[in-house]
Amino acid sequence: MPAMKELVKGTDRYRHYINGEWVDSTIKEWIEVENPATQAVIASVPKGGADDADRSLVAARAAQPGWEALPPAARGQLLKDLARLILENRERLARIVVAEQGKPIHEARGEIEGAALYLTYAAEEARRITGDIIPSDVPDEQIWIQRVAHGVVIGLTAWNYPAALMCRKMGPALLAGNTIVIKSHEGTPISALEIAQLSSQLDFPPGVINVVSGTGEGIGAALVRHPIPRLITLTGSVRAGKEIFRAAAEDLKLLRLELGGKAPFVVAEDADIGAAVRAAVLSRFENCGQICICNERMYVHRRVADEFLEKFTRAVKALKVGDPTTLVDVGPKFSGMELDKVERMVEMARSTGAEVLTGGRRLTEGEFARGHWYEPTVMTVTDNQMRIMQDEVFGPVVPVMTVGDFDEGLRLANESNYGLSAYVFTKDMRRVMRLVRELKFGEIYVNRPGGDAVHAHHAGIRDSGIGGEDGKYGLDAYFQKKTIYVNYA
Ligand code: NAD
Repeated sequence: MPAMKELVKGTDRYRHYINGEWVDSTIKEWIEVENPATQAVIASVPKGGADDADRSLVAARAAQPGWEALPPAARGQLLKDLARLILENRERLARIVVAEQGKPIHEARGEIEGAALYLTYAAEEARRITGDIIPSDVPDEQIWIQRVAHGVVIGLTAWNYPAALMCRKMGPALLAGNTIVIKSHEGTPISALEIAQLSSQLDFPPGVINVVSGTGEGIGAALVRHPIPRLITLTGSVRAGKEIFRAAAEDLKLLRLELGGKAPFVVAEDADIGAAVRAAVLSRFENCGQICICNERMYVHRRVADEFLEKFTRAVKALKVGDPTTLVDVGPKFSGMELDKVERMVEMARSTGAEVLTGGRRLTEGEFARGHWYEPTVMTVTDNQMRIMQDEVFGPVVPVMTVGDFDEGLRLANESNYGLSAYVFTKDMRRVMRLVRELKFGEIYVNRPGGDAVHAHHAGIRDSGIGGEDGKYGLDAYFQKKTIYVNYA
């Protein structure tokens, strides 16, 4: 049987993982994976096509009935075993994530721990797959509502958390009795293939976990169009979400779309300014600002605006940017295209009236001569309709607006096409209760930085998607309900 990878011209060339085997793509083309900090090619992966999509889905379909027939506790045990192997390989996997994605090493270690946690959390639910038994209106009859698997699931993941997002989807999908085909983002495919390799050391039946690589418009679109899968779960851009929504309509496939965000961060005049500054920095600059729940735009009450901006700008200036394999706060942007986008957005903001308080340019000198670097940037703006206040930056840049009162902050926060997360700092419980009611976002952080819990629920509204992940509601999405009328008269 071919190995997971072979050495070609000095770098690893990976294969797809389909039906428990490492297989070459039928299209003999590969994608080079670049290290965002150095621009060195670190590996290549197959640029899969329609044939590979078909092979992986046929394998997943063949494996599904047997997998679902296993007791859930047996499925859960395999997920726990995989989590254990992931943790045993934590350092190696974290270094792979740094190399393919660019986040600082301590954050990558956290990502790998998170990946394992998604699997163990799902596994713990194995003995709680409950249904309902309800009385019928007919004598001598019961109605049973069972939760059963959908069948084959496709998991499409974004590049910002390649290992964690894979496990966030794979854990609940498999626990529920589905089989899965994972396609990571083409820029960060290695950690998912390495996790597949760990799974191959366990007793997962062939075809339960399949991991393929390639582009969104290539193998991604072929997977989505294929008649086999019943559920598609995407973490990615609004653009991809809408394309997949359209393509999935053909067979009425079920969708879970976890898309972009433009989180407002509201600082009231009674806020603990020190805590707000710390949370605002962390929630913007972690993973170089490349998190869907990042603090993307700020509304600060005018009475505390000077103090806040002075402290916030000082804290942002103190962030250490550099080699993500070392102890830094901010690594590179993930790609050249992403860096160009951030640069364009800052330039447009500047030309339409934004004032840059710190940062505002690419880093290109010395240790930054290679790689995709941008200075941590704070700017002030006065117009909520500016692109920088409305479009997702997904980078180390934050615009700040001064507001006259809490109501204005709340109103401007809601002026958005996105609806994923929001942050508010206030000590006034009445305001907290009001914003819980009035903020139109799926995930609200009050007096704390971002960071969602595996047993809560992570879901956006409007352009941020349809669906939601984690916790009991996230797991429930991987089941369909079957109703049985049992007459025993
Ligand atoms: P992307 O949409 O470019 O890609 C996501 C995945 O979908 C990739 O695997 C890609 O190959 C695939 N894809 C793209 N178009 C496709 C198509 N037409 N058919 C099938 N597959 C297709 O997104 P990205 O650039 O990797 O991710 C960044 C975005 O993800 C940001 O907007 C970010 O906010 C969002 N995100 C959201 C969450 C969340 O939970 N809501 C979490 C992380 C990232």
